[in-house]
Amino acid sequence: MRPVVCGREVRLPMYLAIALGAGSRIVRCALADHPPGRQHAGYAAEWPASPDQAVWVIWSELDLDLRWEPLRDCPPRPGAGEECCVLYEGHPPPCSWAMFDPQHAVDSFLASLPPTT
Ligand SMILES: [Zn+2]
Ligand SMILES: [Zn+2]
Repeated sequence: MRPVVCGREVRLPMYLAIALGAGSRIVRCALADHPPGRQHAGYAAEWPASPDQAVWVIWSELDLDLRWEPLRDCPPRPGAGEECCVLYEGHPPPCSWAMFDPQHAVDSFLASLPPTT
């Protein structure tokens, strides 16, 4: 069994989403499922100043404060093959390519539905 993506969601304030050029106001925690006391981390947007950094939202359920950090991309690792990790450098293991994301299964199911007329 591969670890499952946490997937907890947080909503960005509208003005912040606009300022960052974020595609969505909903940010999902991209870490592997973790105890509620540990911090969630979700990708929010590209960091304009640098192509190998991104803006991440760090939050926890205990204090609802959101923190913002431009973080460097997780470096490619031997054994990852073609797949690259979508997380940031120094994230808690494992890398994203080693996880199962139930959302992807839902997305591919939705994509397989016949178009509605
Ligand atoms: Zn989480
Ligand atoms: Zn990684």
